Amino acid sequence: MEVFKGIPVSAGVVIGSVFVLDDARRRIPRRTIRADQVAREHQRLEEALLASITELEDIRDRAESELGTEAAKIFAFHLGVLRDPSLTKPIHERIEDELVTAEHAVSVEFSRVAQMFAGMTDASFQTKVDDVWDLDRRVLKHLIGEHMTELSKLDQRAIVVARDLTPSQAASFERDKVIGFATDAGGKTSHTAIVARALGIPAVVGLETLTERAPDSAEVIIDGDRGVVILNPDEETLEQHRTYIERMRQFRITLSEQATLPSVTKDGVEISLLGNIEFPEEAESVVENGGDGVGLFRTEFMYLTNPHEPTEDEQFEAYKTCLRLMDGKPLVVRTFDLGSDKQTQERSEIPERNPALGCRSIRYCLQNLPMFKRQLSAVLRASALGKVKVMFPLVTNPLELRQAKMVLEDVAEDLEEEGVEFDREVEVGIMVETPAAAVMASTFAREVQFFSIGTNDLVQYALAVDRTNERVANLYSAAHPAVHRLIKDVVRAGRRHNVPVSVCGEIAAEVEFTMLLLGLGLRSLSVTPSAIPAIKRVVRSVDIPQCERLARKVGSFDSERQVAALLRDETRTVIPEAFDGRSVD
Ligand code: PEP
Ligand code: MG
Repeated sequence: MEVFKGIPVSAGVVIGSVFVLDDARRRIPRRTIRADQVAREHQRLEEALLASITELEDIRDRAESELGTEAAKIFAFHLGVLRDPSLTKPIHERIEDELVTAEHAVSVEFSRVAQMFAGMTDASFQTKVDDVWDLDRRVLKHLIGEHMTELSKLDQRAIVVARDLTPSQAASFERDKVIGFATDAGGKTSHTAIVARALGIPAVVGLETLTERAPDSAEVIIDGDRGVVILNPDEETLEQHRTYIERMRQFRITLSEQATLPSVTKDGVEISLLGNIEFPEEAESVVENGGDGVGLFRTEFMYLTNPHEPTEDEQFEAYKTCLRLMDGKPLVVRTFDLGSDKQTQERSEIPERNPALGCRSIRYCLQNLPMFKRQLSAVLRASALGKVKVMFPLVTNPLELRQAKMVLEDVAEDLEEEGVEFDREVEVGIMVETPAAAVMASTFAREVQFFSIGTNDLVQYALAVDRTNERVANLYSAAHPAVHRLIKDVVRAGRRHNVPVSVCGEIAAEVEFTMLLLGLGLRSLSVTPSAIPAIKRVVRSVDIPQCERLARKVGSFDSERQVAALLRDETRTVIPEAFDGRSVD
């Protein structure tokens, strides 16, 4: 039995068998083949090289027409390397001599070339190292793509173990086949983690070395509550976990009884509980869990789970589905939040060095106006069918917001000319998820009708910690006092300008933070649908002065550890059942 400690990202415990999913970015393990399989591996390699070359030629042509010949030259180097027999010949030889898979031979040779460039004294050669890794990823993607399809053929329930998963990979899991997953990389609010919660499957990330240790079909326990993975558990451990699973099942039944109860504090203050969704069908589970509407529709998932941008009509149908399932409840549509970890860099035409600080979210939309307009048109058309609001992500300056609003106006005028019906009073809001937006909340408040605080990114940018990077995961903490001060500023600006403020980051779904958020003045929270009952339980068990006292005390601390411990203790006194079950050790 081996125990791995990682980061818990999606609650629940499951016991099952391992399915190792190769990923284009991992170090490819050395897998040997039989002599009669050599020809097939040569052929796979040739096909992958050809597919990569065709893909690069396309990108080069597009870059040339859109960005000019200079930009296109970058790809000339890439194409030159892939066509160079001094690279491809040693890969073929390695397959033949060492009897290894094409992907292993590719990864070894590319790593040799990258090291060669890295060792050169001339800086211009050193910059080629990234290009080589990029090519390595591209070729491996074509080779390992086969294994990815095998996942869709998975004929029994399994636990996926991978070096890393992209949000779109996780989103394409079949819910009844993949019962949990564990990855070496990743952080608590990475989008892959968010998808796991949406799918309702237990998940642990940041396990660092699990893929090296876990063979296919091994028995494994994924404990998404404590962030633990147990490989080849003994009988006693299995029994303990089976008991725990049953106890939590009973707890969830009790919680589900909350769905129909009103969301009010003991002193009668109403708290609006909304749902975050990634897929239109999830709107149903918002209602089932007792939510008051959708506070965040992460529409980019429609794109990420598709090889192409969804058409305007497909988007319109998706929004219509949400509205129908929610029966009159409001829907906040966040415009495409693509980029960063939500446009996998493999798919991106020109990979960015620092994508979290790059062309993502509203920036990406403003640079891709036809796409942006198609989305806004679909949203406006849907606004004729129910209460729809538009929300722009990652806004950092007022000019950007004004530009986005102008595009919305243009689209509205076009629809008007065409005689298409829509809500002319559609509300426009922004995600407050950068320190810039939080600090300037008063300025933004004059130009929007609502704010939604995206703490996942706000923590990332305020603390300068990549939300997907397991190596700094210990520094990523929503309990940091700097984050609370920013939230407080936004709430205050909202009050002053009569602009409602909600929180839609993952912090809103964590019972430990509910009292603090209420104490900081929030009256609306948007959370993953399955978390609504537990949050409602806390809301119904507290009064506002008690929460304000807690917020004041938290405000006097200067360390996130102290804050986290206090929040946990206070919440435990209010809702001990949520913690009781966690005593399996
Ligand atoms: C956030 O940043 O808090 C948020 C809700 O948006 P996302 O997690 O999709 O970036
Ligand atoms: Mg965000």
